[in-house]
Amino acid sequence: MSQVDPRRAIPRTDALLELPAVRQAATRLGDRTIRAVVHDAQDRARRGELAPDAVESSVLERLSSHSGSTLRPVLNATGVVIHTNLGRAPLSAAAVEALVAAAGYVDVELDLETGARSKRGVAARAALLAACPAAEDALVVNNGAAALVLATTALATGPGVAGKEVVVSRGELIEIGAGFRLPDLIASTGAVLREVGTTNRTHLHDYAEALGPQTGCILKVHPSNFAVQGFTAAVGLRELRALADEHGVALLADLGSGLLAADTLLPDEPDAASALAAGADVVTASGDKLLGGPQAGLVLGRREIVARLARHPLARAVRADKLALAALEATVVGGLPPVTLALHADTESLRCRAELLATAVGAETVPHDGRVGGGGAPGVPLPGWAVRLPETAAARLRAGDPAVLPRVHDGACLLDLRCVPEADDARLLAAVRAALE
Ligand SMILES: *Cc1c(COP(=O)(O)O)cnc(C)c1O
Repeated sequence: MSQVDPRRAIPRTDALLELPAVRQAATRLGDRTIRAVVHDAQDRARRGELAPDAVESSVLERLSSHSGSTLRPVLNATGVVIHTNLGRAPLSAAAVEALVAAAGYVDVELDLETGARSKRGVAARAALLAACPAAEDALVVNNGAAALVLATTALATGPGVAGKEVVVSRGELIEIGAGFRLPDLIASTGAVLREVGTTNRTHLHDYAEALGPQTGCILKVHPSNFAVQGFTAAVGLRELRALADEHGVALLADLGSGLLAADTLLPDEPDAASALAAGADVVTASGDKLLGGPQAGLVLGRREIVARLARHPLARAVRADKLALAALEATVVGGLPPVTLALHADTESLRCRAELLATAVGAETVPHDGRVGGGGAPGVPLPGWAVRLPETAAARLRAGDPAVLPRVHDGACLLDLRCVPEADDARLLAAVRAALE
């Protein structure tokens, strides 16, 4: 009796491509992607990992769950609000809606009334100015680093000002993450970094001694991701303003965090309104940190300086895209974004939710401090609660569906619900149950 090779029963490519559901998938996915899914299922069947009669269903399942992007949504159960590895700020529903609407043709540079070309991003600019009246003008660029590069380039390099100095305290020469350092970033513009003071103490006279005709601007950086404690001294914007006026140089403040107005929960985080009121000519910040919006760089401040930045050729290379402009505007005019809600989450409600989840899976809760993250408010604890699971659950949670990122600490897997929207509690429970099975 001759045995028929079971591999001969593997469905042929043509037959699979002809299936109605596969043809339907071609409205969402390219031919190359669909063929790759088909060939992968056939290969698995040839290797004996898949029964020949399961090839079709495997192809259909993979195609239906294929979203076009391999980026996977993650439930952030770390308690870290601005989690850089998870894309920083999650957008508000209003921002998502605006972003989707802007995906097609939009009037981003057009005045529909007159039919004439308009300035790019006027709506986002107007929203920022309404939210931060201390600023005379605003410019949105690609990210915070781009805002700083554009500002230092325009104020300390170029015709007439080539190779001028950016005066900055040694206590503020920070690495912002992934090996990127502000001093390198500034040096890359051709400006000359003029370091003053020491790591822990910088005085007004340190700045005064460094200022001269070669000065392009004074830069004050918020050292957002660390805090120097003990014998320290720094010079505030108010004192620097007087010095800048004396020497006729611009005063630039890189805030990083992106708060437009002060937040009492984070008393040490600088905000644009206060920094401008204290005398900064221009401030730069990120859109996707404490502001809770899309990746963007904000430049806010005096009209002539913002205009100077906007006119610089580099501005074109760092301009914000229409999706970011739409989402930023919606974030600024909208209600409290997820970042703000998570920061200000009610401790009692966090405890109740954690207890419900813990009880449902037979685990216990422990007090747990969340963090601001994203290089903001170092050392500021956000008191809350966590569900404590065995450490082995962590890998299974990350690999689960939905993917869940817990905090692994002290030999335990901790789930802090601060950054999990309450509406996702049931999905989180299902994911935890699956991980503990
Ligand atoms: C985060 C940060 C930056 C960089 O902003 P991106 O939006 O990440 O480019 C620059 N300066 C400070 C002080 C920061 O905290």
